[in-house]
Amino acid sequence: MTVHDEVLAAAKDMLRLGLTAGTSGNVSGRLDDGCFVITPSSIDYTEMTLADLVVIDAAGEVVEGTRSPSSEKLVHLACYKRFPEVGSVIHAHPLYASMFAVARQPIPSAIDEFAVYVGGDVPVADYAMTGTPELGENAADCLGSVGSALLANHGSVTVSDSPAKAIHQLGVVERAAQIIWGARALGGDAELPASTNDTLSGYYRMLRQRPS
Ligand SMILES: [Zn+2]
Repeated sequence: MTVHDEVLAAAKDMLRLGLTAGTSGNVSGRLDDGCFVITPSSIDYTEMTLADLVVIDAAGEVVEGTRSPSSEKLVHLACYKRFPEVGSVIHAHPLYASMFAVARQPIPSAIDEFAVYVGGDVPVADYAMTGTPELGENAADCLGSVGSALLANHGSVTVSDSPAKAIHQLGVVERAAQIIWGARALGGDAELPASTNDTLSGYYRMLRQRPS
């Protein structure tokens, strides 16, 4: 599969798996030539084809494609610029994770194995308005040691080495948000032992720097 194929498949999976709503959210992948392929704005994911994808350069200028790139392209570019090991970025509006984003509460790493995929608690980035450079910078500030962050009062950002792994991680985050929300309704979420999260987040950091 080319990076274009992987980005398109991940975008369709994002909607199919209920990880975003309508045409919200966007998926991108890093190309070998220093450019990035990204989903266009306002196109139905079920009807999206390879021809709808847009290639942008590091400055955000369109170098290939006829559609408008996602309005959140600056979030994607900020993550690629800050983290050379990152090969894919997904911004989404998942229901339960967005509840934590609106409450401005981190999603705690309270489920075994969560930290292997995400690296630890999912932090909340400082608020910045949609489409601004600050939104991308604030998100990138949170993604040095973990793969997902919440955008305050907005949604989520996930970074990984491939679109398929980013979608998987996003699903792990959204499911955890739902479980933590439910656990709190049942009386509260118990913390994992710190040693468990320390060990598992170590695996995350190793895999992030040396993707398989
Ligand atoms: Zn958004």
